[in-house]
Amino acid sequence: MQDDCLFCRMASGAMDVPKLLDWPDLFVIRDINPRAPAHCLVIPRRHIPTMDDVRDEHGPILARMCQAASEAAKIEGIFDRGYRVAFNVRGDSGMTIFHLHMHVVGGRKLGPEG
Ligand SMILES: [Zn+2]
Repeated sequence: MQDDCLFCRMASGAMDVPKLLDWPDLFVIRDINPRAPAHCLVIPRRHIPTMDDVRDEHGPILARMCQAASEAAKIEGIFDRGYRVAFNVRGDSGMTIFHLHMHVVGGRKLGPEG
């Protein structure tokens, strides 16, 4: 937990936000600035700054994040038609909150990369 981290504050309950999924090890919220009709964020409760900081020990939480992305896609009604998951990593990616999170995007035909 890092007090200055927005997602850590959401994870601890210090900041209350509507959660699409609220699991012991992760939670899912809707992006406040969606880039598609459906756009969710899968966020592990444990603070991992970026994908570059992922180590072997994080394997289980990454698997759980994939499962949560599937569940979120079902809740958002985009599971059957397909969707995209993505990690942004620093700099040019536009990453703004340095706490690992997976974007789940869909609900329209997506371009090759965005
Ligand atoms: Zn954090």
